[in-house]
Amino acid sequence: MNRDSIGSFAGKFLPASLSRLKKHSTSESAPDISNGMILYLEGLNKSFDGFKAINDLNLYIQEGELRCIIGPNGAGKSTMMDIITGKTRPDSGTAYFGRSMNLLEMDEPAIAQAGIGRKFQKPTVFENLSVDENLELAMAGPKRIWSTFSGRFNSEQTDMRNEVLKLTGLTELRSRPGKVLSHGQKQWLEIAMLLMQKPKLLLVDEPVTGMTRQEMEKTGELLDSLAGTHTVIVVEHDMDFVRSIAKKVTVLHQGHVLSEGTMDQVQSDPKVVEVYLGTNE
Ligand code: ADP
Ligand code: MG
Repeated sequence: MNRDSIGSFAGKFLPASLSRLKKHSTSESAPDISNGMILYLEGLNKSFDGFKAINDLNLYIQEGELRCIIGPNGAGKSTMMDIITGKTRPDSGTAYFGRSMNLLEMDEPAIAQAGIGRKFQKPTVFENLSVDENLELAMAGPKRIWSTFSGRFNSEQTDMRNEVLKLTGLTELRSRPGKVLSHGQKQWLEIAMLLMQKPKLLLVDEPVTGMTRQEMEKTGELLDSLAGTHTVIVVEHDMDFVRSIAKKVTVLHQGHVLSEGTMDQVQSDPKVVEVYLGTNE
């Protein structure tokens, strides 16, 4: 078999996402954060049937930051996450991961591979697999396929899993199947699964919905402990939760940044009081 036929053989039999990973990893596999910024969204616009879901949106996130995004229903929070992860393309504007990775030229698997992980609101852990096995399946990159096939996990992967279990408080539950976990524990497992992929930027959509106060507190501590070594963007409705964790808050309204600052600053901003915090939304 010559080189070309090996190439086409691989192209035919590797999953599409894997061949994209390979292509992507050649030149740029990590964002350039030499100036301390990890995410730049500038002048973004996105309309759905003439309705402007995102309207001249600018957002700048520093590496290691824990940023909360709040805003009424329909403000464009999920659409913004969809643009960052490549699920939705904006009509115009720019989106960069670090200084040089143009997110608008990357597809979803390439963006995930570059280090942007997203946790959706509803947990999607494998109910019949143990916590350990869920983490095994979540392991990053092509290795995931081979280790799943061979049933082997190298010592570096084992160390990492132990670290992630400890960080998320799941060590004692490691042998239990997903289905016996509480709602909160499932959410933590899902965060743990994301961490196994070594993301640099974590997008977390409404993590405390349906949680008890105690679980909420623990989630706040977990997200706080991830900041610094990771950058975390949290979309959340629960104001007490946002107040308890947030260092900087961005208020979205009609697809645009209405206000930004500490929770105290945005809560006393008359524009915010008028459209959001003053209501019972
Ligand atoms: P949020 O997450 O802040 O509640 P979204 O980003 O989900 O807001 O939605 C912003 C607006 O865009 C809403 O009015 C929503 O109905 C609309 N929208 C979002 N996605 C689509 C879509 N795929 N097709 C049509 N309209 C959409
Ligand atoms: Mg939403």
